[in-house]
Amino acid sequence: MKILIVEDEQRLAALLKKGLEEQSYAVDLCFDGEEGLYMAETYPYDAVLLDVMLPQMDGFTVLDSLRKQGIDVPVLMLTARTEVESRVKGLNRGADDYIPKPFDFTELLARLTAVIRRNKGQPASTVQVADLCLDLNAKTATRAEKKILLSAKEYAVLEYLVLNKGRVISRTEFSEHVYDENFDLDSNIIDVFINKIRKKIDVGHEQKLIKTKRGVGYYIDKEEE
Ligand code: CA
Repeated sequence: MKILIVEDEQRLAALLKKGLEEQSYAVDLCFDGEEGLYMAETYPYDAVLLDVMLPQMDGFTVLDSLRKQGIDVPVLMLTARTEVESRVKGLNRGADDYIPKPFDFTELLARLTAVIRRNKGQPASTVQVADLCLDLNAKTATRAEKKILLSAKEYAVLEYLVLNKGRVISRTEFSEHVYDENFDLDSNIIDVFINKIRKKIDVGHEQKLIKTKRGVGYYIDKEEE
């Protein structure tokens, strides 16, 4: 999952980035509203953390502009303004949630996970494909009730596959959602990750979950209802 943070307090922005990366999110940072708007218009983020008071362009204007263009990425507004008015304003304009500063990182994380899940039509905190089960809060995976040890990036790739089950994901789409903007798109790192995940998920099981669509990408089958 890839998150855009638009926050002019650079220390806070860096802390948020670090915290989210530890939770296996890919994160891009912007320090003003204009750049934030440009990034959110240009790249497919899974959610945006948007400060209200920003240089160049304030967060509400950024949000308005995104919604007017039909960009429905989940947006969580961050703001030092504690007035109810500001909160109502944000939600009326199409923010998905509002987080007053100072906030607790654990709470921010829980709310972020919740808006992403709602946006993907996945209200539960665990998601299952055959006997593979992901816990989206704990960021852990089990197969046949046995815990699978995954690195943060391996988990991120697997989670993206599972949340998009039934749809073939190209290497470019993986890169856009799992890596930040400094990622080298030419590398075959996605194939390397998929191979590692396959070894952990599929080896020793009769049913192979991760499928290859030759020349296109990878997918996990949607189960028959
Ligand atoms: Ca600010």
